[in-house]
Amino acid sequence: MTTDTLADPPSRSVSAPAAASQLKGGYFLTHETDPLQMFISEEWNEEQRMMARMVKDFCVREIQQPFFQRGRELDVSLEADKAEVVALLEKAGELGLCGISIPEAYGGMGLDFNTGLLFSESIAGGYSFATTLGAQTSIGSLPIVYYGTEAQKAKYLPGIASGRLKAAYALTEPTAGSDANAGKTRATPSEDGSHYLLNGQKIWITNGGIADIFIVFAKIEEDEELSAFIVEKAFGGIVVGREEKKMGIKGSSTVQLFFENCPVPAENLLAGRGEGFKMALNILNTGRIKLAAGGVGGGKMSLTKSVEYARERKQFGRSIGEFGAIKQKLAEMAMRTFALEAALYRTGYNIDRKREELLKQGVSESEAKLRAVREFAIECSILKVQGAELACYATDEAMQVHGGMGYAAETGLEMGYRDARITRIYEGTNEINRLLAIVELSKRTVQTRELNLVASGKKIPSKALKSLLPFVSAQKGSPERQLVQGIKDAFLLISGSAARKLRKQMGEEQEIILHLSDILAEAYLTESVWLKIRKLEQMEGASREKLAIQRQMMQLYLYEARARVEKAATDAVNSFATGGEKRSLRLLLSRILPRYEYNPRSLRRNIADYVLEQGGYCF
Ligand SMILES: Cc1cc2nc3c(=O)[nH]c(=O)nc-3n(C[C@H](O)[C@H](O)[C@H](O)COP(=O)(O)OP(=O)(O)OC[C@H]3O[C@@H](n4cnc5c(N)ncnc54)[C@H](O)[C@@H]3O)c2cc1C
Repeated sequence: MTTDTLADPPSRSVSAPAAASQLKGGYFLTHETDPLQMFISEEWNEEQRMMARMVKDFCVREIQQPFFQRGRELDVSLEADKAEVVALLEKAGELGLCGISIPEAYGGMGLDFNTGLLFSESIAGGYSFATTLGAQTSIGSLPIVYYGTEAQKAKYLPGIASGRLKAAYALTEPTAGSDANAGKTRATPSEDGSHYLLNGQKIWITNGGIADIFIVFAKIEEDEELSAFIVEKAFGGIVVGREEKKMGIKGSSTVQLFFENCPVPAENLLAGRGEGFKMALNILNTGRIKLAAGGVGGGKMSLTKSVEYARERKQFGRSIGEFGAIKQKLAEMAMRTFALEAALYRTGYNIDRKREELLKQGVSESEAKLRAVREFAIECSILKVQGAELACYATDEAMQVHGGMGYAAETGLEMGYRDARITRIYEGTNEINRLLAIVELSKRTVQTRELNLVASGKKIPSKALKSLLPFVSAQKGSPERQLVQGIKDAFLLISGSAARKLRKQMGEEQEIILHLSDILAEAYLTESVWLKIRKLEQMEGASREKLAIQRQMMQLYLYEARARVEKAATDAVNSFATGGEKRSLRLLLSRILPRYEYNPRSLRRNIADYVLEQGGYCF
């Protein structure tokens, strides 16, 4: 497999500074983005490319080659394998890989947010070690980076960055999964105020069996809200459970933790009392978008492995890559990865620009980082869902392309399939994230009034009705522009109608909210992939042949998205509207969503033939 799947850089990039409207989460629904203000992966600089190559080489050398030599996956329920995972984490630390998000002042690399996403994409080749390293560099250390005092940072971050200290994040409890604030773990302050005594149980803790420090969430006395603590294993009073037997990510430690009068010094409280729940949500936003980056990495790897096999494997006297059924799979994997990548790095870049904007306003570095990610919580939830679905889809199809060999442990494909499945469950389940995207959007519409969806939505019926006149269409511009705008309008129309009709009952209508969330996600992904093509078209030095295929991937994505949006919109309308209201909404929808006709077979064949010729993902 090729280790460098980054697109070739064009000779000249044409980026423009980010506009203010680009730096507001959810604004993509009501504002147009100039393609020149969007970052695309072709713009990685040499340093970023070197970092990605270094990470991929680490994965090949330290994880993939040993896997094939050993002939089985790592399994931390075996002591020898657990020791190997610890050694791997330390080796990663020596190369600086444990400190990607830790500021240089504390021994880290201090990567900007978008380069951090490139790191998460690149480490996808590390199989389940990606989860181990992900917990170390993200949820296990970011609470200290973002919320720690100087003393806490100085004490813990250098050890985490070097890999000497292994970190874990302990939020989930038997009674508190998706409902994260419902935990029963208690922190009782000592009479002299010098420490807390921690009592309770945590479950499903990644890195729990190897960690030296834990970020533990608990309620102080009878507080309503969680607080967070940095807890060293050496404090005592912690019983670590046995390794869980899991479907996948067997090389990643997952245990229960029992706290029995664990003494935690008062200075190890992170942020203020009762700040833990907010912190947990903010940290998860970062984890979510990183998970999407892993999905992009997984999509690229699955495609490349599939292409290699499809070129070699012969049946009925032909390479299986010559069969339309296989071409269809290769094209779908390539196209879905390409679209998600466009949305991913668009968001990461906006988060970095937002951080810079906040820094200019005098906000502190850690506060700026936090608020910048928080700003794009809607996009992070959308990307998490899409990234997890891509990871599951692509590993499943890669296995299918390999037939029986895909089912055999020796190829690693069935392991990838099992490993990918967890992504739909952790960092907030996909259902929770689909709901969250809409909840966050409505908060910004109704409570903070940062978004004016109501006014935008009100214009849509008259716009659509005008289009009933001959020679007038509801949307303007190129077919792509019309469709992207049509998807946004469909969302605004249906969400507005449903909210007016259902009012307070809306929160109980999850099925409708999920349809809306799916339309919202399509609005973001279709626009992102279309903007990426428009930007590539303006860049000098981009290969015309490759661009022609990239354009076809965009067309195929939009073609398929239109069908998904039509189905979700119809299901939503049929779920709440009746009689005349239903008829008029269906009529408006038919005007809003323009036709977007292509021959999907030809598009898929062209895309598949290109990746077969190039030997894998090459965009
Ligand atoms: C391998 C692994 C590693 C993990 N690592 C960590 C870790 O390092 N640290 C940590 O703190 N946690 C960790 N977790 C926990 C993980 O985040 C939770 O499993 C996840 O949040 C879901 O919680 P739950 O398992 O209790 O499921 P539940 O919350 O019980 O959900 C069950 C089902 O109900 C649905 N559901 C729940 N509430 C709602 C609702 N309001 N509306 C609609 N549907 C709903 C869910 O989507 C899901 O389909 C890990 C879990 C696993 C399996």
